[in-house]
Amino acid sequence: MLLTHNIDLHYHAGSERSGDTSLWDYVDHARMTGRLLVGVTDHMERYDPARPRNPYGPGADGWARYREELEQLKPEFPSMRLLLCPEVSLERVDELLTPELAAVADGLILEPPRIYDCTDIKANTESWTTGVGRIAEIGRQFAKPVHMAHPFREAGNNRVVENPIEPWITDMPLRPACDFSDDEVNHFFMMDVRALGRALVAHGISTEISGDTVARLDRISLPSVRQILYAGYRMLHEEGVDLVPGSDHHVATDVIGRVGTPVPSEAFDWLGIGPEDMTYLDTLCPDWRQIGEAPAA
Ligand SMILES: [Zn+2]
Repeated sequence: MLLTHNIDLHYHAGSERSGDTSLWDYVDHARMTGRLLVGVTDHMERYDPARPRNPYGPGADGWARYREELEQLKPEFPSMRLLLCPEVSLERVDELLTPELAAVADGLILEPPRIYDCTDIKANTESWTTGVGRIAEIGRQFAKPVHMAHPFREAGNNRVVENPIEPWITDMPLRPACDFSDDEVNHFFMMDVRALGRALVAHGISTEISGDTVARLDRISLPSVRQILYAGYRMLHEEGVDLVPGSDHHVATDVIGRVGTPVPSEAFDWLGIGPEDMTYLDTLCPDWRQIGEAPAA
């Protein structure tokens, strides 16, 4: 039976591959790192017919070529289940997602709405809960499994990645049990996290614990920032949100060698969530329990 670290529903292996690596190299990296159920992805924005920036060409034809290459290498990786799950922003989905493109996809990854006015928790919450409804509609419209990517990414970027870190964050007291209050978490992530959770549950939309979000906040070296992120995931979990693992891995190698971005299995272990709890797996890959099992003699 799969363990959490064997599941990665958000694994970039297309237009942003490192150096001169190939799709085969990325799938082999996934194999070596224990990933068995993999949502192979790329950004639809990079297949924009007006400005294609990928090795496969524009639009649905480009995605079909990506899919074809993935299909060709599947026999070399018999223990793995490789699904193609294109990622797109809500802002550009209407323009970029076509029935032809959806036809080559096993599932879809929708990025959450942008946060335009970070100080306005009410406006952000409204835009996110509306966005969750839109994501559900897209799933129905194209008859594809769909999940929402990295919920705390953008606010985390705003707080500690893209801007100078404010003193109240640098001085935020440590909470080893991650027991920040709802108000503290909502303030940090600039939205009503439980309202987002309720919208996700109401629309039946799963979302990620993102390895890249955890890694970005961990790299800042403020333990309290990682702890408040975990508190946010805990609030979504308490609201009954189906949380699934996605590394959002992009870079596999750099000058020192193998790097990568992890599947955040520790966060799932901390919440007490295992693969059996992840209802989205049944939608995306109904026979996921057979992955990695020896075939019957
Ligand atoms: Zn991504």
